[in-house]
Amino acid sequence: MVYPQKKKTGVLLASAALAAAVCVWFLADVEPVIALNGSDQVEIDYGETYEEKGAAARLVEKFFGKDLISIRPRVIQNDVRNEVGTYQVVYEAGFLFQKVTAERTVVVVDREPPVIELAEQKDTELTLPGEPFQECGYRAMDNVDGDITDQVKSREENGRVIYTVTDTSGNTATAERIIRYKDTEPPVITLIGSEHMTLKVGETYHEPGYTATDQIDGDLSGQVAVEHQIDSQKPGVYDVVYTVEDRGGNQAAVKRTVTVVSSIYDPSNNSGDKIIYLTFDDGPGPYTEKLLNILDEYNVKATFFVTNGYPEYRDMIGEAYRRGHTIAIHTYSHDYSAIYASKDAYYDDLNKMQEIILEQTGETTTLFRFPGGSSNAVSKRYCMGIMSLLTESLEEDGYHYFDWHVSSTDGGGTTETSVVVSNVINGCSRRSKSVVLQHDTKDFSVDAVPQIIEWGLRNGYTFRPLDENSPTAHHAVNN
Ligand code: ZN
Repeated sequence: MVYPQKKKTGVLLASAALAAAVCVWFLADVEPVIALNGSDQVEIDYGETYEEKGAAARLVEKFFGKDLISIRPRVIQNDVRNEVGTYQVVYEAGFLFQKVTAERTVVVVDREPPVIELAEQKDTELTLPGEPFQECGYRAMDNVDGDITDQVKSREENGRVIYTVTDTSGNTATAERIIRYKDTEPPVITLIGSEHMTLKVGETYHEPGYTATDQIDGDLSGQVAVEHQIDSQKPGVYDVVYTVEDRGGNQAAVKRTVTVVSSIYDPSNNSGDKIIYLTFDDGPGPYTEKLLNILDEYNVKATFFVTNGYPEYRDMIGEAYRRGHTIAIHTYSHDYSAIYASKDAYYDDLNKMQEIILEQTGETTTLFRFPGGSSNAVSKRYCMGIMSLLTESLEEDGYHYFDWHVSSTDGGGTTETSVVVSNVINGCSRRSKSVVLQHDTKDFSVDAVPQIIEWGLRNGYTFRPLDENSPTAHHAVNN
């Protein structure tokens, strides 16, 4: 009875052993396999979120290479942070005692350069031309490094400042400013056409034009303001004023004078009790024609005390006469040693000039001026008392000599037009009637005439040529 039982137990044991053997085989022949979803090398930008793609795993039967079942892997390491660096993500899958892992490398990189902000150079911080730029401020910020202002390098070249900064990832930023310079030079206004213009009464003033340029701002012609109050019905001297301002606040102004003249010279334009007699000695010469044209422009008549100093310009005597000026004698030779040697010598010389005047104008004159004036003392060298003798004798003979009240000093005191102008204006402004001495043999003195006439007209003076009834202008006789 025992035996059958023993036999049954034996079968059971054998079955169990077989089952165990199958299990051991199975365990030995099966393994987990893991594979990453996506690349095992991932690069992401700083600030970008790391997207986990995960991994897949399965159990594989090794002998036949047959997939048995999917299993679930798990992430056992993931230190990816939002900081520049290299990180690992580790995945693991397991079956019983068998474990497999896979790794993914995640690199967080910074490709974004810093940003440089420049403070504006204020109007009060402008750079003087030729001086270095005084820094007026900047800031550099980086997405990773934060404030890196202290690492900015700057250099100045060709009117610019170039700023550079590099972040710890090697991204470089550049910024550039154009230096604002202080404009210390005013613009320059250039008039087109003459700065002294004349209009006949009734003629309309047409602006001849102008340009304005500035060293910093360039062409400012379009910003020039033009002001005038020309009344073309009313004789007088009018200013046309041109003004312009550059962005640096430097102003420029120039003036054109426009003289409105009546078509026929009319002394009643001014009251007539303030008179200037312009007189010109020693010509005619190379500048006489220019002077005649200036006088014509203003319709002003003057007096020429002529000599034979430049015989080739002799015809200007007739020309001046025909244009309404007074011709008077200043001697033929203007040679002190000859003319002041004796009374006869003086008369001989005077008569020679008288003949030329007669030939040129068809008339003689009774008006004359002594070389050196009646007060000259040089004549003592040649003949004592000659001036006393001549002044008396010539007046007795019906001549009228004129010295002057106002010397322009163009005979030797100056060679400057501006000095001639100021001497004449100063002298005339102290008197109601002035005989003015100039020389039409001096170009710079002829150039002073427009300003003298304009000043006179503006201040109520009438310009007249000398005649026999003009007020005497006699100096004290010294010899
Ligand atoms: Zn002279």
